[in-house]
Amino acid sequence: MTVYCPNCHQKARITSRNNMNDEKTVADLYCSCTNKDCYATFVTTLGFKHYLNPPLQSTMQLAVNLLSTLSKAERLALLKGAID
Ligand SMILES: [Zn+2]
Repeated sequence: MTVYCPNCHQKARITSRNNMNDEKTVADLYCSCTNKDCYATFVTTLGFKHYLNPPLQSTMQLAVNLLSTLSKAERLALLKGAID
């Protein structure tokens, strides 16, 4: 991950991270600009926004929950249809 200096727009180095929640989805990143003519230090925020694909475990749990609503005959018919 690259962080850019808000002053000179050159690359900055992350020197430390302070997680802002227990899930570690939001964090303050303490950064130092690598431009020798700037050397600004600053704090920027990193935050989780949304999934592009749900975690595999969530998908499997969703499938299990859906299948549990079907009768055994319906499940067998579904599997037979999926194989054909
Ligand atoms: Zn800079």
